[in-house]
Amino acid sequence: MNRILVTGGTGFIGSNLCEKLLEDSNNYVICLDNNYTGNINNVTNLFSNSNFEFIYHDIIHPIFVEVNTIYHLACPASPKDYQKDPIFTLDTNYIGTKNMCELAKRNKARLLLSSTSEIYGNPHISPQNEEYFGNVNPNGIRSCYDEGKRISETLLFDYHRFHQLDIRVARIFNTYGPKMNKNDGRVVSNFINQMIENQDITVYGNGEQTRSFCYVDDTVSGLIKLMNNEKTTGPVNIGNDNEITVNVLVNVILDLIKETKSKIIFHKLPLDDPIQRKPCLKKAKEFLEWEPKTSLNEGLEKTISYFKSYS
Ligand code: UDP
Repeated sequence: MNRILVTGGTGFIGSNLCEKLLEDSNNYVICLDNNYTGNINNVTNLFSNSNFEFIYHDIIHPIFVEVNTIYHLACPASPKDYQKDPIFTLDTNYIGTKNMCELAKRNKARLLLSSTSEIYGNPHISPQNEEYFGNVNPNGIRSCYDEGKRISETLLFDYHRFHQLDIRVARIFNTYGPKMNKNDGRVVSNFINQMIENQDITVYGNGEQTRSFCYVDDTVSGLIKLMNNEKTTGPVNIGNDNEITVNVLVNVILDLIKETKSKIIFHKLPLDDPIQRKPCLKKAKEFLEWEPKTSLNEGLEKTISYFKSYS
């Protein structure tokens, strides 16, 4: 059996990943989380599967489990969540990731890190390719996450160079879909829930900043392909290259929730909010033969149905 550890397994991407991995009956999945931002309700549907196990644990403390594959996703990932306790975010990224490197080393396991497009900061080039070193503020309010993920990457590559650790590094761009946390402050979950509840729609800045949104099923299939490929350690961008402004996003969602009475209001742009973000997917296509398949409309419809049934 393939014994797989998923850290951050009750989180948005983690829980979708656990569910997908369990479709293969050769996989035994250990989901580990401290539920800081994860939600146990995201995995209760998996409890009846005898190939699934949940461990309540914070990775800033060492742990030993016997596994041959580790997907390391644990870390608060939305700006609102990672800024709530920035020191904890930093600890998770350095101490937590170091603990996962040690665990992988002891098990001779393959370790995949979920890094992020945030490591490109406010980019000077577009689309962002994996060779770009980024433009990151080292001491701003987003730094605990941006620099935290950068040092996580450094740790993995140094363990790879010094201890021949078998690594894979994914840089995940904006992802959305079912099991997102309704209150994590992200743009897709905010807009959908504001419209469902007829509240004001909060556009930050002038709404002309861009993002490229990837549906979670595509992100999960990209992570699994990266884990199982033998051609590259990464880093590999995993995302959708359909770049749109926040203003366009509002209008696409408004078209899908026509009954809403919500009105758009503009708020101040948060500090260090990147102006643009679009992944270069050349490496993903070449090494993983992967590209996103779900259109924005299709993905948003599924996400809206999820939030409607949830609220
Ligand atoms: N944003 C917005 N309204 C919201 C939440 C976010 O206009 O209610 C903007 C935010 O300023 C950013 C973009 O949407 O430019 C994406 O924000 P999110 O927090 O989802 O992810 P980020 O890419 O910033 O990590």
